[in-house]
Amino acid sequence: MRKNIVAGNWKMNNDLAEAEELIGHIKMQLVKEPEATVMVAPSFTNLYPVFQALKNTPVIVAAQNMSEHEKGAYTGEISADMLKSVGVETVILGHSERRAYFKETNELLAKKVKTAIEKEMTVIFCFGEELEERKSERHFEVVERQLKESLFNLPKSAWKNIILAYEPVWAIGTGETASPEQAQEIHKHVRELISKNIGSEVAENTSILYGGSVKPDNAKEIFAKEDVDGGLIGGASLKAVDFVEIVNSF
Ligand code: PGA
Repeated sequence: MRKNIVAGNWKMNNDLAEAEELIGHIKMQLVKEPEATVMVAPSFTNLYPVFQALKNTPVIVAAQNMSEHEKGAYTGEISADMLKSVGVETVILGHSERRAYFKETNELLAKKVKTAIEKEMTVIFCFGEELEERKSERHFEVVERQLKESLFNLPKSAWKNIILAYEPVWAIGTGETASPEQAQEIHKHVRELISKNIGSEVAENTSILYGGSVKPDNAKEIFAKEDVDGGLIGGASLKAVDFVEIVNSF
């Protein structure tokens, strides 16, 4: 059976002291055995201290990005092996901010995912349509292309290490959430696509998170939808009380 997951994407927030303070509060407030698998994704510089702080807890530390290259002359990049050497085995790939501001394409993301899988990492793969694409009713088509071009060439065995996160771009950081029905509609469609392209068992077992302005007051009804298996949380993951309340929304 697929897992419920709540992952906090801290983005480019928190210096070392702030990261340590936030993780301290999260640790204190989380119940011992939450209903969901909990993950936090700090910036690269805070991965190791946060990993250290979370030892002996079930909370998983994820990176927000990773190079497609294994090593070498790629100034400013971070490799899978570097992440693993500081205890990080999960990585967010394909976030819409990386697609928009850093020109990450479906093709590049296919390479990053391939590298991560070869390195036996878990990938949280983000996808989702922009406002214009939804307005012109191309959201199903856009989402299908993102998945097809970056993921559907992976071997079936890779899927045990893939978590999906549907994040409609128009709902990220805007305070405008997709309705639970809109999220469910896409999640169901995605599960059908996986079933058709990879297999029904993989489709059933893959967690599909929703992301985009999830807050303590809307998490419950979004997570209640059949094909929504949790959330990728941006803004609300920066406040321990809000994040923990979202974790407890199952
Ligand atoms: P938000 O961000 O919760 O602030 O909308 C979600 C995300 O970008 O992962």
